[in-house]
Amino acid sequence: MLSEAGVAVAVYDRMPSPARKLLMAGRGGLNLTHTEPLDAFLSRYGAARPRLEHLIRAFPPEAVRAWADDLGAETFAGTSGRVFPRAMKAAPLLRALLARLAARGVSLNPRHAWTGWDGDGALAFDRPGGTPLRITPDATLLALGGASWPRLGSDGGWAPVLAARGVALAPFAPANSGLLIPWTPHLRERFAGTPLKRIAVTFGGRTVRGEALITAAGLEGGAVYALAAAVRDTVAARGEAAITLDLRPDLAPEEVARRLAAPRRGQSLSNHLRRHLALAPAAVAILREGPAPPETAIKALPLRVTGVAGLDRAISTAGGLRWEELDDDLALRRLPAVHAAGEMLDWEAPTGGHLLTACLATGRAAGRGVLRRLGGA
Ligand SMILES: Cc1cc2nc3c(=O)[nH]c(=O)nc-3n(C[C@H](O)[C@H](O)[C@H](O)COP(=O)(O)OP(=O)(O)OC[C@H]3O[C@@H](n4cnc5c(N)ncnc54)[C@H](O)[C@@H]3O)c2cc1C
Repeated sequence: MLSEAGVAVAVYDRMPSPARKLLMAGRGGLNLTHTEPLDAFLSRYGAARPRLEHLIRAFPPEAVRAWADDLGAETFAGTSGRVFPRAMKAAPLLRALLARLAARGVSLNPRHAWTGWDGDGALAFDRPGGTPLRITPDATLLALGGASWPRLGSDGGWAPVLAARGVALAPFAPANSGLLIPWTPHLRERFAGTPLKRIAVTFGGRTVRGEALITAAGLEGGAVYALAAAVRDTVAARGEAAITLDLRPDLAPEEVARRLAAPRRGQSLSNHLRRHLALAPAAVAILREGPAPPETAIKALPLRVTGVAGLDRAISTAGGLRWEELDDDLALRRLPAVHAAGEMLDWEAPTGGHLLTACLATGRAAGRGVLRRLGGA
């Protein structure tokens, strides 16, 4: 937005190279956005929808695709409606974006950790081996991310800096995180790292179909991330929660019963389940984790959840800069000429491209706000 309008832009990042979290998101294919109807898309932002709606309408999923396509990503929509670059990774898109920014004269300054403002109101940065840098730009756009996966650069260290300036923040909480399940040692030792494919997970009346990965600590993956916010809130209120797994969501209970009634002919129950219901060994093993007999648990296996995985492993962060602190240009009301965008702001959404879309849409809005401030829009 800014370099295209001819504004001189300098980007400072604490890490040795830029966009590490975007590159990490690329490991899962880089789900940029989603083709579901816009109303359904917007509903994924829950309580933050009223704040985000006009920003996303101004840069909707089609605009995200057009932006990425223009950078050579050749996006496509999978059968689930999720949109990915054809390369299924972030590096080519990032390379094209960095080349575009370099061609427009944007300077990239790695290994510059922003520490706040000095007594004269200048931005202060620590840099290795050198004296701290002080700069006084015409406008500042903070896009410092949330607090998940801190080793990728975004550690939420900006929160106390802004809080010290009187800016109100909602506490950080893990979003799209794995669920902590007290597995038996057998399941943990034999099946950690094994995916459960084509399952459905139910919590609080909501059922999500997809995949989950068994880990030593519990379950990770799309199907559980979608329910993690609700599970997190229940665990916070009640100390634990119960999810239900359907290991053959494509089969009606009667069909499961019919297949199980087939003569066993001396086979073990495990083999019987594998043969007649095509259950993978991990699915058979997980059936034995709950109190219900395997025959009934196939369609409704209750599992006790004791918590959600912490911020260090969560895909995204709930909480952050409270919306009341921001004006329509995403400028901070209490600080002169400082705008903010991305996961720093107080919203959360499931995976499905909704995170990157909102980051891009808020980035555009803050960029437009800076332009307006500088008299360019
Ligand atoms: C494993 C994983 C997979 C994901 N997959 C997807 C996906 O497929 N689709 C999707 O929509 N979303 C996905 N996400 C989420 C998505 O990557 C984030 O929501 C998005 O990157 C947030 O963008 P941002 O610009 O707000 O922050 P970030 O991408 O976190 O960038 C913030 C930048 O600020 C820098 N920084 C922070 N503090 C300072 C400081 N004090 N000084 C200087 N620099 C600083 C950091 O180094 C970082 O480069 C995934 C996340 C993870 C962890």
